Amino acid sequence: MSESPVKPAPFTYHDPRSRAELHDLLACLENTKLLAGGQSLMPMLNMRIVAPDHLIDLNRMPGMAGIAVAENHIRIGAMTRQADLHDSAEIGNHLPIMVKALDHVGHFQTRSRGTIGGSCCHLDPAAELPALCALYDAEFDISGPNGARKVTARDWFQDYLQSALAENEVLDSIRLPLWPAGTTYGFSEYARRSGDFAIAGAGVLVAWQNADIIKRLAVVVFGVASQPIRLRAIERDLVGTRLDAEAIRAAADAAKRIEAMSDPYVSSDYRRRLAAVTVERALRAAVQRAEQLA
Ligand code: FAD
Repeated sequence: MSESPVKPAPFTYHDPRSRAELHDLLACLENTKLLAGGQSLMPMLNMRIVAPDHLIDLNRMPGMAGIAVAENHIRIGAMTRQADLHDSAEIGNHLPIMVKALDHVGHFQTRSRGTIGGSCCHLDPAAELPALCALYDAEFDISGPNGARKVTARDWFQDYLQSALAENEVLDSIRLPLWPAGTTYGFSEYARRSGDFAIAGAGVLVAWQNADIIKRLAVVVFGVASQPIRLRAIERDLVGTRLDAEAIRAAADAAKRIEAMSDPYVSSDYRRRLAAVTVERALRAAVQRAEQLA
């Protein structure tokens, strides 16, 4: 029987009820961890992968959850539960790809506690919500005792499980710019079992010039490298062209050129091949949705 611990190392628990109290704790405490839905952090505490001296619980913090639709973006509070996003009419109307992606995030039990902020701060390479933030070029609103700042998606992803957050900062909300009406999307991923983290996946957004000519394109691949990868070169190359079989194959080939992770379970070659397949499936789905709208 392995000796692996199943209880966290001792820590002091804090449950702030205001932003001022939260920032004071962040200013004066060292070796802290913020608790959101606990769906990643609690297993890491129990296995002592992390051993903070102080656990700051965000679950009673006012004003950190919620969805607000503005003229050109949608703002999502970091503590918004994944299940609430999945069932939200605003998300269904403005970010339908997020509803599709959330179907693949864990299980409804984990989604009922897990939050978008936790997902975007934990940054598992195969996590769907951070990938969508990369797809939308989202902006992250963070704050701490030294004030508030905004971080773009390009700067948010620093490294494996590493965001741009400083030790004494909290992610307050995420803003995703809205795409024009008529934009279609595709989302595809491959996981061994339903609810498992994906081995590879892709999400696409297509704004159309007319019937089948691309006006604007965004393609993100996730699970393949340590962070989501936007295929920016092919996104530029395909603007103004027809999204036909040749264009889809070109995008899939671009996915095959990603510098992929390798581990004892999945080779980088296999991840690259899966990346190409999921990009192709996502683009085909976006074309189909456009045909249904026509
Ligand atoms: P927590 O676990 O509470 O925290 C995660 C990390 O983020 C911690 O380091 C914490 O300190 C930090 N943090 C949280 N909120 C903030 C904030 N506002 N500001 C600063 N730091 C913050 N996820 C997927 O994407 N896809 C999956 O397929 C998937 N499958 C899963 C299957 C199972 C069985 C389980 C248990 C989890 C799975 N997850 C999956 C992970 C799940 O989505 C988690 O909810 C998510 O990774 C973390 O969100 P959380 O709110 O639980 O954060």
